[in-house]
Amino acid sequence: MTELIYQTDSYAKEFTATVTGYAGEQNGVLLDRTAFYPGGGGQPNDVGQLVVDGRTYNVTSVVRGNIHIVEGELPPVGAAVTGILDWDRRYKLMRTHTAMHILCGVVWRDYSASVTGGNMEPLSGRMDFEFERMQKELVTEIETRINAEVQAARDIRVNILPREEAFKIPDLIRTKINLLPEGIPEVRTVEIIGLDLQADGGTHVANTREVGTLRIADYKSKGGINKRIYLEINN
Ligand SMILES: [Zn+2]
Repeated sequence: MTELIYQTDSYAKEFTATVTGYAGEQNGVLLDRTAFYPGGGGQPNDVGQLVVDGRTYNVTSVVRGNIHIVEGELPPVGAAVTGILDWDRRYKLMRTHTAMHILCGVVWRDYSASVTGGNMEPLSGRMDFEFERMQKELVTEIETRINAEVQAARDIRVNILPREEAFKIPDLIRTKINLLPEGIPEVRTVEIIGLDLQADGGTHVANTREVGTLRIADYKSKGGINKRIYLEINN
């Protein structure tokens, strides 16, 4: 088991750990603890470095199972490592992920449209909604409303709840918590206080004001009531 630092401290950009083993076929390193996000929920994985005795190993990807894919030779099992995230990239992804939840929250609260999926890159993302009324005339209105939520400086709270407790929260049931696999005993929730609450594994900023200015870059119809909205964040 790897201790997942990113689940409770999204601002950890450096950490110390011990190499516990390899995922050889992937040239991957396993650690007893990590702050590297392996990707999921539309948020791409982190990249960065592992440093052992002054020697640097580039982490080119992190995949499911918290496997750190490294270029070239692997550090020895038992070695004490310092993990260093590419923080510029990760922080942009945190701002972007929170921005996506702001969009979700506003579109649900004001238009009763639910989200069906999404994906992001640093400072841009797209989200799919069942949103019959979405049309060109709404773009400016939504943009104004999501920026108002950034300005409102709402705190973001992360919680890890027993599964039974999470299943009693109406907002979570709406966001398809029932799709979570049976075996998972705990549910991590991300709440933008006063706006949005979701079961979510990603890394977020602590307050919406960190997100910055948002722009609806485009939208398109995906057939029927399905609409895709493209979001961009000013650097
Ligand atoms: Zn999310």
